[in-house]
Amino acid sequence: MRTPIVAGNWKMNLTQADALTLGRAIAEGAPTRGVTAIVAPVALHISALGEALASSPVLMASQNAHWAESGAYTGELAAPMLRELGVRYAILGHSERRQYFGEDDEGVNRKTRALLAQGLHPIVCFGESLEEREAGRTRDKVEFQVRAALAGLSADEARRVILAYEPIWAIGTGKTASPQQAQEVHAFLREVLQARFDRETAQTMPILYGGSVKPSNFAELLSQPDIDGGLVGGASLKAESFLELCQIA
Ligand code: PEP
Repeated sequence: MRTPIVAGNWKMNLTQADALTLGRAIAEGAPTRGVTAIVAPVALHISALGEALASSPVLMASQNAHWAESGAYTGELAAPMLRELGVRYAILGHSERRQYFGEDDEGVNRKTRALLAQGLHPIVCFGESLEEREAGRTRDKVEFQVRAALAGLSADEARRVILAYEPIWAIGTGKTASPQQAQEVHAFLREVLQARFDRETAQTMPILYGGSVKPSNFAELLSQPDIDGGLVGGASLKAESFLELCQIA
């Protein structure tokens, strides 16, 4: 039985004061059981937000992490530093990072392994572009990305990874993949995971859907057997909608 996950990616939004207001409202209203609620603030706010969330069930994610433990990597964040501040998860390979910052599959794999070595959970994002979907290349693309991200991992390690299928054409566009379109990809991914690891691992790993998730479409997405939650951008920036997503889960 996989516990549903609602993970809010706040991206490069909110002043620290606004992040704290939102964090406190979410902390107050978040269900204490039945769902894992995660928020990913900008790195600058992690420390203050960690204090605001301390006695709540809401967990924190970073929006990125580097593969090295420390060193000459200007502007980057190391997993041990994130862990020290109470961060439990890190989003890796988000399509915006791939598009604007040159993040590639090899880097995502290095980061995945580094996070696991530090006891953190990677949330690995992947998904096809509209062009790839229209050319019938969705399965090839997601299989390639997932296999690359998980290269070299044991089954035990893979079970600590969260996958997030985010069709690029559905992110921030208001266009959601239909529940059936998303389910088809998620079910296919379980086959890939079973072939790569084993049945138990494939059944254990959470696979989130991301792309214009909101309260009005979440219940139907979640009712699909292989969709285990949402990675949510826009709708995670308002306490009411984020909490509604948690209630639905
Ligand atoms: C995201 O950025 O991961 C995302 C899914 O954004 P949105 O929900 O706004 O489409």
